Amino acid sequence: MDFISTRGLGAVSAGTAILKGIAEDGGLYVPSFFPKLSKEDLRNMVAMDYAERAACIIGMFLSDYSEAELLDYARKAYARFDGEPAPVIGVDETTYIMELFHGPTLAFKDIALTLLPHLMGAAHKKCGSDKKTLILVATSGDTGKAAIEGFKNVDGTEIVVIYPSEGVSALQKLQMQTSNGNNVHVLGIKGNFDDAQSAVKRIFNSAEAKARFEKLGYALSSANSINWGRLVPQIVYYISAYVDMLGCDEIAEGEEINFVVPTGNFGDVLAGYYAKKMGLPVSKLIVASNINNVLTEFFTTGKYDTNRPFHKTMSPSMDILISSNLERLLFEIFDRDATKVRELMDSLKNDGEYSVDLDEIFDKVPEFLAYSSDEDGTEATIDNFFETYDYLLDPHTAVAVNSYNDYLTETGDQTKTVVVSTASPYKFAHDVYEAVSGKDEPEPFRAVKKLHSYTMTAIPKEISELETMDPIHTDVVEVKDIEKAIFAYFEKE
Ligand SMILES: *Cc1c(COP(=O)(O)O)cnc(C)c1O
Repeated sequence: MDFISTRGLGAVSAGTAILKGIAEDGGLYVPSFFPKLSKEDLRNMVAMDYAERAACIIGMFLSDYSEAELLDYARKAYARFDGEPAPVIGVDETTYIMELFHGPTLAFKDIALTLLPHLMGAAHKKCGSDKKTLILVATSGDTGKAAIEGFKNVDGTEIVVIYPSEGVSALQKLQMQTSNGNNVHVLGIKGNFDDAQSAVKRIFNSAEAKARFEKLGYALSSANSINWGRLVPQIVYYISAYVDMLGCDEIAEGEEINFVVPTGNFGDVLAGYYAKKMGLPVSKLIVASNINNVLTEFFTTGKYDTNRPFHKTMSPSMDILISSNLERLLFEIFDRDATKVRELMDSLKNDGEYSVDLDEIFDKVPEFLAYSSDEDGTEATIDNFFETYDYLLDPHTAVAVNSYNDYLTETGDQTKTVVVSTASPYKFAHDVYEAVSGKDEPEPFRAVKKLHSYTMTAIPKEISELETMDPIHTDVVEVKDIEKAIFAYFEKE
């Protein structure tokens, strides 16, 4: 299968799309068509394990990889998880939680980022590239550590992670700062995620920067969800959840289900939409935002407007105003009209906003609904959910549950619904402990222990191990100096 840019540039192979990360014209790669899953395909997947399902689904898009090769990569990637990568847990008659946080860094980003290095390594060979790869990652907290765990010590690869120094949780920051690996660079910035993402995109779009890296022997690539190689592994868990529910007769063949997805850069929920485009019986995709609710406004008014205050919340991985992957949805809303997408993206770049006729959205993507949760609502949801179900939500997942509750109040919909749970509550121990106990414990590891005693839930070993590790990467720079700081990592040698 070929991949095309949302801004019109012509087709490339899957390997090239994954290596480049972003198209030359600044657009995002999308598959030239959506392969179809039949009822029989879904039924056949019931007996498969997660890695087999992944190889089968990813193979439908990455036709330049063999299924045996993909299965080998998927087995290696998902062996790093503590148990199943995407277990679905029923909490009441209609609500299910899909837990995506059992990977090495305790967030759903691991699902794609344990696999991406294998896909990229193979792409290098397939494309006959002799350059080393430089992975540039902007992170709102979870992608950075997940990318480091995926790419550390990978031959011929260097990784630079850029994160908002004051915009991530204490434990997220420590996870990144204590990373070992001989090819890892971690850069804090005095800015927010959007500043980090814009800097990365600017470097990708700068012929001068690219030439400078080329002279150093590097080709740039991205591990953000702008990279197709990040999105395709995420399609798998939507299908896998459905197949699991089918396998234990929670749903009948062909029955539609809803997904509720805590959303920031719009990668995760977009993967759910792609699963639907492949034929997965999905009714609604509920986009859940925190008070940085640009997407809620977009889906309810048609206006996408970043000219608003940026809020720091207890769900920092969703503190984003520029949701890059929405560009891929616009491409579908406008029947793959790249000229229209370019117009909207120019308007976003120049004016920080664009508008789409609301009827166009309702007409083309009626499955999307959007809600947002304010901080009090998120906190109360963590507390209530724990009281009611004895289940501890992280703040991102709580945003999703609170949004789902609003949806239920509004519609009374009885469709079975899967809430996508994106992180372990222990990554956000301070806020989660405060939500359930009403008490403040500012020291992160004391908060972890108190959360454990209060809820009798298990502390993930990746969190307890952090306590004895020393930060290695402590650089913090001004936004204007990001590019300079990155070059300094490589040109000093
Ligand atoms: C990244 C992240 C999200 C948002 O996912 P997008 O693909 O950016 O929409 C939600 N929750 C957590 C915990 C995350 O790390």
